[in-house]
Amino acid sequence: MINLILFGKPGSGKGTQAEFVKKKYDLIHISTGDVFRYNISQKTDLGILAKSYMESGDLVPDNVTIQILQAEVNKNPDANGFIFDGFPRTTLQAEMLDEFLKNKNLSISMTIALEVDANVLIDRLINRGKDSGRADDQDRSKIQNRFEEYNNKTSPLINYYRSQNKFFEIDGTGKISEISKRIFNVIDSNI
Ligand code: AMP
Repeated sequence: MINLILFGKPGSGKGTQAEFVKKKYDLIHISTGDVFRYNISQKTDLGILAKSYMESGDLVPDNVTIQILQAEVNKNPDANGFIFDGFPRTTLQAEMLDEFLKNKNLSISMTIALEVDANVLIDRLINRGKDSGRADDQDRSKIQNRFEEYNNKTSPLINYYRSQNKFFEIDGTGKISEISKRIFNVIDSNI
């Protein structure tokens, strides 16, 4: 079983690459951001709660996010493995994920980080916002806040996974297909 974390700042291409990785290795793709956006579109209680955080570019509280993640994993008991995209984003989420998987006799196989320069990310996000209409992609101050959330709360995970020898970085710029190949190489060399 391959349980992979796709890691990187907002706009680094995690969602795009998750689609290719999912097809090649027959994995279930879980994006907590997608789950929240779906709930917002359905106007569920979770959606209403998540919206207030997401719109300003803040992280949704850990207790809510962790429950969502566990429910998504539990929906797929026969999976060959999972791609976690946009989760974990805090140390508590990472610790809870390890414990949750351990209870199922599973573990994280590796974390692959997509490295992209901040200026490139801002351009990518603004362009994506024009197409998708995502409020959090259209406003520079919201984007800036998401980067700050990443720097303060998510970047400590680099050391968390590095200390377990599970952290791999790849260049997240260039052709989409080339980036996919870099990811496949890391997976194939480490499973
Ligand atoms: P994403 O689609 O991964 O860029 O996530 C969009 C937004 O959803 C983030 O800016 C957060 O507000 C929220 N979100 C997604 N995943 C998480 C997470 N693991 N922890 C907290 N908030 C999250």
